[in-house]
Amino acid sequence: MIDLKKVSITDLKGVGDSRKEALNELGIESVYDLITYFPFRYDDYRLTDLQEAEHEEKVTVQGVLFSEPSVRWFGKKKSKMTVRLDIEGVAISASWFNQAYLKSKMQQGQTIVVSGKWDRHKLHITVDRTFMSPQEQQTQVGRLEPVYSISSRVKMNYLRKLIHEAFMQYKDEIVEVLPGYICEQYRLRPRAQAMYDLHFPQDQKHLYQARRRMIYEELLLYELKIMWLKKINRTEYQGLSHTFSRTQLDEFIQKLTFPLTGAQQRVVEEILTDLQSPTQMNRLLQGDVGSGKTVVAGIALYANFLSGYQGAMMVPTEILADQHYASLCALLEPYGLQIVKLTGNMKVKEKREVLGKIQMGMADIIVGTHALIQEKVIYRQLGLVITDEQHRFGVKQRAQLREKGEVPDVLFMTATPIPRTLAITVFGEMDVSTIDEMPAGREPIDTYWVKKDMWSRIVSFIAKECEKGRQAYVICPLIEESEKLDLQNAHDVFEQLTTSLAPIRVGLLHGRMTAIEKEEVMGCFEQNEVQVLVSTTVVEVGVNVPNATVMVIYDADRFGLAQLHQLRGRVGRGGGTSTCVLVADPKSESGNERMRVMTETTDGFEISRRDLEFRGPGDFLGVQQSGLPQFKVADLTRDFKILEIARTDASTIVADDRFSESKEMKRLWEYLHAENLIEKNFD
Ligand code: ADP
Ligand code: MG
Repeated sequence: MIDLKKVSITDLKGVGDSRKEALNELGIESVYDLITYFPFRYDDYRLTDLQEAEHEEKVTVQGVLFSEPSVRWFGKKKSKMTVRLDIEGVAISASWFNQAYLKSKMQQGQTIVVSGKWDRHKLHITVDRTFMSPQEQQTQVGRLEPVYSISSRVKMNYLRKLIHEAFMQYKDEIVEVLPGYICEQYRLRPRAQAMYDLHFPQDQKHLYQARRRMIYEELLLYELKIMWLKKINRTEYQGLSHTFSRTQLDEFIQKLTFPLTGAQQRVVEEILTDLQSPTQMNRLLQGDVGSGKTVVAGIALYANFLSGYQGAMMVPTEILADQHYASLCALLEPYGLQIVKLTGNMKVKEKREVLGKIQMGMADIIVGTHALIQEKVIYRQLGLVITDEQHRFGVKQRAQLREKGEVPDVLFMTATPIPRTLAITVFGEMDVSTIDEMPAGREPIDTYWVKKDMWSRIVSFIAKECEKGRQAYVICPLIEESEKLDLQNAHDVFEQLTTSLAPIRVGLLHGRMTAIEKEEVMGCFEQNEVQVLVSTTVVEVGVNVPNATVMVIYDADRFGLAQLHQLRGRVGRGGGTSTCVLVADPKSESGNERMRVMTETTDGFEISRRDLEFRGPGDFLGVQQSGLPQFKVADLTRDFKILEIARTDASTIVADDRFSESKEMKRLWEYLHAENLIEKNFD
């Protein structure tokens, strides 16, 4: 057997250096790349029954020419040619634009096939494709024709021929990777056949079967990879077994100012079980904004402390570091824990002091930005790392810590509720805990969508709320093309509000202020010295000021649903009714739709489901950081059912001890090898 991934396309007839280069530009290097360069759609050249065709539908018909073609010229280049066709006794007309050269090839009495747009009223076809010769008609009509993405250097017909050629030459080298029992169980086409049919399907049925087979294969292989990672994680990555006094921990939980919600209790148990087990924890904690993840983190950190280890909380921004530092101090200092903060922009002297404390074990909990895992930081004994609002504390970061001899348990927290579809795929190698219940007594947030010309009424509404002692956020979007404009936008709103709201105090927060300036403004807002905070999106993540009850989002249609939901979650935290006002004159239908979704529901999971629907999975998570696999045939939103089946099958296979030896599984095993998973080499 030849490995087609290693056979260069230059091994195909007629592919020389320049063709090779052109194909490389499309990402096609090996014969394998070529045969898996699947069409993105198919043009349908099956014959149509005109009786049933709709007006303006695309049709393909066979007919006999019964008039001389007549050509009209418009200037030198433009022309329109018309003929009359007899289609099973019905006379219709057909016309071609700018293809007058066809005239010489046409003879009365000749049978031709044309494809184009049908005008039912005029009994007329505007032709865009003609099949003149019987040979063309025989080989091309009645088929689904593959359409590929091409370039100026690689033409459609050439690519079709080349792919066909590749199959003729190498079809027998395409190996089956799926074990026989699976193919039988789901009646899946053999791999080579399915691949061929995806390019050149005889009919819709063949296409459907080919797709089904390839989607399953893609998803099974992907799930196998994930499951294998998980298994390695479990068996090879020995972590720390935390041991702590449960009584002491329960006492701590009991003394919280509120009882935990059922969901919080459940996820706490899941996390504690992970802490106690010798396997390194790799867990995702997801919960809507305001669902109370911080206190769960606090409990985990306390258990970690009781076990004698240091803990770290890693966050993406300085503001968030401040917030978490403050809430963890409030929560844990009474129990004698030493908490320090470590961020990138601290003064050298201050930083040195903190680093010293960490190294000597005088710091029990370190809150900070990515500075936390940099080389200079020497931990005493790191038992738990929690990351907030960062999708991935990647393999790399973990490897970095391992090199320093640290094998902490890792907990990822995110407020972007990820629909199950994606969670089990993207975060498949992690365990997932979900807080799906809000603390009691939360008032719903009334959400309104208003046009910009209502601005003065919004201003008076803000004034009224502030007079009642409440506070408000006014968010202005980041406009990507122009940083200046953002600031202008926020500045304008700030100045306008300062004037019209006086003596109510207004603050301004934006991304290009220094950390100290930001801290100062945030501090004033937290202390209610400033009642209205005008801000670009820096408040997006994690900020907690319970007294704020108004969230105004200016140009709201510039935000995505997830972001809008996050922003809205900044209010409704202190009891009492809160209000979110979306100010927008959307120019697009999708903008309108997003505003509608926001006014219809406050459920983060529902919003995220709708968001996924709008955007598709790649966009949903942001392609770079998503770690989403690039599937060739499968589509995670569409093929979720197959994904679940593949997932179950993959876990059965990985759990089977004979996986590595069984002859039937040999190909699958080799696949995992080829992906370097078995060597544990994932950096
Ligand atoms: P998030 O999940 O967005 O990080 P937080 O942890 O910031 O949410 O919690 C939001 C607010 O809810 C905080 O003020 C917190 O003290 C409060 N809270 C958390 N859990 C409960 C609970 N079980 N009962 C009442 N209030 C709670
Ligand atoms: Mg939070």
